[in-house]
Amino acid sequence: MMPRHVDGNALAGPLSDLFAFDVTCASGRCVGCGDVTVLARAMVYEDEMGFVARCHLCDSMLLTVVRTADGAWLDLQGISGLHVAL
Ligand SMILES: [Zn+2]
Repeated sequence: MMPRHVDGNALAGPLSDLFAFDVTCASGRCVGCGDVTVLARAMVYEDEMGFVARCHLCDSMLLTVVRTADGAWLDLQGISGLHVAL
């Protein structure tokens, strides 16, 4: 039997703690090579549409941000985990 669940509003507290941090100090795990390092070491390429951050070791794409008329899309497919020091 599946455990009872609540809706995503239950994430508001814990995620607001996690997302109120300097992301460049967070450590990400690269999907390409497994390296875990602070995002500040990523290689960032920017153009008018947004930017791409690549692993400083293997050049894999860690994340992309694409700006839209009303906000931005953040794609974190290249990061398998993010460590945030609290
Ligand atoms: Zn890598």
